[in-house]
Amino acid sequence: MANLDEPLHKVLGDKTAKVLAKGLDLHTVGDLLHHYPRRYAHRGELTPLSGLEDGEHVTVMAEVVKVQGRSLTRSPGYVLEITVTDGTGELKLSFFGRRGSYVPERDLAPGTRGLFAGKISTYRPRSGKPQRQLAHPQYKVVEAQSAERAAQEWADEIIPIYPSTKGLDIETLGKSIGMVLDQLQLPTDPLPPGGDPRTPAEGAGRSSLRSGPSDPIPATLLERRALIGLPEAYEGIHRPRSWDQLGRARKRLKWDEAFVLQIALARRRRAAAALPAKARPPAARGLASEFEARLPFDLTDGQRKVGDEIAADLAVAHPMHRLLQGDVGSGKTVVALRAMLQVVDGGGQAALLAPTEVLAQQHFRSIGALLGDLGRAGQIGGAEHATRVALLTGSLGAKARKAALLDVASGAAGIVVGTHALLQDHVQFADLGLVVVDEQHRFGVEQRDALRAKVTGGRPHVLVMTATPIPRTVAMTVFGDLETSVLGQLPAGRAEIRTHVVPPEKPAFLARAWERIREEAGEGRQIYIVCPRIGEREGDEGDAVDAAPADEEGRRSPLGIMELLPLLQDELLSGLRVGVLHGKLHADEKDAVMRRFTERELDVLLATTVIEVGVDVPNATVMVIMDADRFGVSQLHQLRGRVGRGSLHGLCLLVTDAEPGSKARERLDAVASTTDGFKLSRLDLEQRREGDVLGATQAGRSSSLRLLTLQKDEDVIRDAREEATALVEADPELAAHPGLAAELASLLDEDRTEFLEKT
Ligand code: ADP
Ligand code: MG
Repeated sequence: MANLDEPLHKVLGDKTAKVLAKGLDLHTVGDLLHHYPRRYAHRGELTPLSGLEDGEHVTVMAEVVKVQGRSLTRSPGYVLEITVTDGTGELKLSFFGRRGSYVPERDLAPGTRGLFAGKISTYRPRSGKPQRQLAHPQYKVVEAQSAERAAQEWADEIIPIYPSTKGLDIETLGKSIGMVLDQLQLPTDPLPPGGDPRTPAEGAGRSSLRSGPSDPIPATLLERRALIGLPEAYEGIHRPRSWDQLGRARKRLKWDEAFVLQIALARRRRAAAALPAKARPPAARGLASEFEARLPFDLTDGQRKVGDEIAADLAVAHPMHRLLQGDVGSGKTVVALRAMLQVVDGGGQAALLAPTEVLAQQHFRSIGALLGDLGRAGQIGGAEHATRVALLTGSLGAKARKAALLDVASGAAGIVVGTHALLQDHVQFADLGLVVVDEQHRFGVEQRDALRAKVTGGRPHVLVMTATPIPRTVAMTVFGDLETSVLGQLPAGRAEIRTHVVPPEKPAFLARAWERIREEAGEGRQIYIVCPRIGEREGDEGDAVDAAPADEEGRRSPLGIMELLPLLQDELLSGLRVGVLHGKLHADEKDAVMRRFTERELDVLLATTVIEVGVDVPNATVMVIMDADRFGVSQLHQLRGRVGRGSLHGLCLLVTDAEPGSKARERLDAVASTTDGFKLSRLDLEQRREGDVLGATQAGRSSSLRLLTLQKDEDVIRDAREEATALVEADPELAAHPGLAAELASLLDEDRTEFLEKT
């Protein structure tokens, strides 16, 4: 895109270019054109001043009501104080200067409207109320209503408001963008039939900008999706004359973002699918079918359908890359195990990777139990075609580790269970055919690649299972290089989970909760109590990996399990057997505690979020989450999924100090109101910042997604995916689409690579 690559100093001159480079990190015409307004205002509409927060960088439109200059008492300075209003509230602007130096008295007479930009602070006069102020703001007078223009027209005019930047004159940006736009010539002539709009028509004699930027989106697609051309879109986003025009511009530019990203993902999928892998077709009579026949329950329709999809993928000589998502308790493990056995039947090995040791150990035990004699090859009582299951975690003793490694290397172990460390360690497999990644919320492209590289002379099939259901938009972007299967239904007969908020205004609820726990324990049931931190030592961060932002509002630090433990033992739950589980325990201790809980030697498990995913003890019926507001929505849903796993009803209590009506309470109420994980994950997405979802670190420079949001643009993302898939299918190397190829190259080598790799 030659003309978008044009350095700004050529178009705007050195001085302005330097200011833009320093203030906003903008270097080329393209950088500048992609620096979009943050929002738009009507000229007739003033910015509400009441919601402004200390420290916030703002640009507000307001009207001057009062101008007052005064000399400073203790220094030779002079201060001009201007009060502006939004019609109700007021904001004070202070301009400091020396008498005689330029202060904007002449510009800002009462009645003038203007844009004012700066950092909000609080001015506390010695007497009187504290007042919000902008000290020495940037300002721009908004053209007054003139006789020639109708009042309505004047009031309706749209004013773009750019993110304010320290040290950058409010006029500079608008003027610079205007200059660049003026040099982009909008194509007015209709295109010749079949002509390529990207080839500059009669380019001779024009500056490089004149031909307009080359368009990454093919003309046929623009037409099919009713998208406007790029120069028009830049005009519409920066200088809209109507909301319609702005809407068309936004739609077009969102498409650019979505489309190029989906092209990148489609190419990844295509490249991965072309790799060789060993086909592992289902065996007529093997471990997989034997296992299925012995299951103590019927598979759900969903399990059957997804199982068939996976079986078909494994039967092909190209690697499977599939994402399996299903709500908590939907029975993903059985599906995975079936797939692993199919690979074992085909002479290969399967690795199951869990996010924590606790979960790896539990998988090891439950897979052992589910397989029975099918998993005890070479041991007394082993079935004839049996395989062996190996556990490989960081905490194994040297001897056990050596034995396990040997089993893995020789191929004696068909199934290998471990944590993700399994990938980093130099573990040799005899013939690794399938890798299952369990309960992963984020498993980036990078890790997926590391995994594929594990096997030489072919790639393993990969099945990723998510910890929580994820919204479609996330599936299509963050996991967009994978095929997706969804387990939409829970096994029949699954007991319900009731969830209640235990709020600060009803202390009796909390007392009742402890009573309820004693009753449940009296009936032989078990209870989880979860705290956000360990609370053992000073400055201990605990394990609440994803705990909602704490202490932002100066709240007390969240409850630690070590603080709660004596209280439970001596008072609230005295007489009950309480075990403690957290991330800082030695792996052996963790395993021992989990084992005692599973074997009902403990009534209560007091834990951090180490039990968040996967832990499966059907006899546990109550989950109490202390300081529940410190956890995210999906995390609460995941935690709650630890109860109600058998036929017994589950009860989840969300204990909180959060006041009624607060954001935190709304979140907890939402969790209490539904057990639909997909619904909650959408809510979670709405509440998180995009960057958190995408995992991209955003320092200053905005992400490759400027306009597109995962929350609101499902349609665009879906349509762009469809178009991108078709285009890559037809023209994998983008040979006929040089504009697109260039755009893709810049996406891939910029900060945007992070988007793909760190998620
Ligand atoms: P998740 O999808 O959360 O990982 P699991 O695989 O741990 O769920 O399954 C949850 C529980 O449901 C396990 O105890 C499992 O044995 C049981 N389960 C799985 N499939 C079925 C089924 N079709 N019918 C009844 N119980 C099932
Ligand atoms: Mg699971």
